[in-house]
Amino acid sequence: MGEELLRFVDEGYGVHLLREMVRIPSVVGEERELAEFLEGELQGLGFKTRLQWVEEGRPNVIALHRFSEGRTLMFNGHLDTVPVCEGWETDPFEPVEREGRLYGLGSCDMKGGIASILMALKAIMDSGMELRGTLAFTGVVGEEAYSKGARAILETELAKADAAIIGEPYTEVIPLGISGKILYELIVKGRSAHGFRPEMGINAIEEAAKILTSLDRLRLGTHPRFGRGNVCTLKIEGGYKRYSVVVPDRCRVEINRLIVPGESVETAVEDMRRLIGELGLRAEVEVRTKPPYYEPFEMSPEEPIVKVFTEAYEEVRGVKPRFHYSLSITDANVFAGEGGIPTLHLGPGGGGAHQPNEFVHLEDLKPTSMIHALTAEKFLK
Ligand SMILES: [Zn+2]
Repeated sequence: MGEELLRFVDEGYGVHLLREMVRIPSVVGEERELAEFLEGELQGLGFKTRLQWVEEGRPNVIALHRFSEGRTLMFNGHLDTVPVCEGWETDPFEPVEREGRLYGLGSCDMKGGIASILMALKAIMDSGMELRGTLAFTGVVGEEAYSKGARAILETELAKADAAIIGEPYTEVIPLGISGKILYELIVKGRSAHGFRPEMGINAIEEAAKILTSLDRLRLGTHPRFGRGNVCTLKIEGGYKRYSVVVPDRCRVEINRLIVPGESVETAVEDMRRLIGELGLRAEVEVRTKPPYYEPFEMSPEEPIVKVFTEAYEEVRGVKPRFHYSLSITDANVFAGEGGIPTLHLGPGGGGAHQPNEFVHLEDLKPTSMIHALTAEKFLK
């Protein structure tokens, strides 16, 4: 049966679709046009579709095809890309093919993944095969920022999906678990004084600097499969608005921390408080966290979706996928971490995600799509 289905995987359709998607800008916050485009495309494939408005002007696209009673498999992709950054050698919104690579913003992260998923959905529909259960696709807004789109999916009937596959560009090494993250916000409160008499005040920026140079003393949790999390200072602000020689009395810092299973917001905040306590600062420091928060998760290799995915992968690639536990964040933190839906990732490989000159390997589209299609066939049998 598998081979029969694979004959319907139409590479030309996928490449054409990918080119069209690159031409539709969908920088985070501006996903509407791509959502509407994909809704039309999925209707054309025979899916029942709707837009789910997550915020004004920002819809998710939801597409369902119910064969019968049974399991639900949700394919998923995020519609948004990061903003254009410096250094592009081509127009980021014009697909350019060179030596088997297709360049364009979002080509790898993750319009290529969406294209390979739609190729698989088209193959299943074109083959006319009768599966059991429901095949679904969701295209969601805002993965690159707060995952509001993915959270909105958990408010629909798809919260009960039995498994999900996200088209993120994981090709050979597939996560069976992903770290979580918290964002610390430290408010450092000093005391102002004339800048020529610094000893009379408490310099909030200098006190904040002592914390930042001591972050290696945080007790990052370790986990047998994930290893250790990490920390990264993302932002610091403080000091005068308009030039003045005043000891700054306030400084605000944001620090990202990836956490592994076993750690939580509470343990991470406690750890930061302990560190600050040990530094003997003169400033008062308030330790808070702010959104987005992501829950870590890990899956058993015995999950039904993992088993059928492994078979499908091996049938197409001739080798088993390698599984690992990844320090990163994707919408799987929402689907699996919060929603309890076993979630895998597979998408065509490429390079330059979140950088200039992003590209996807075109030759990867077809095998990726074949694995998507076979996984669906096996899971909905
Ligand atoms: Zn992505």
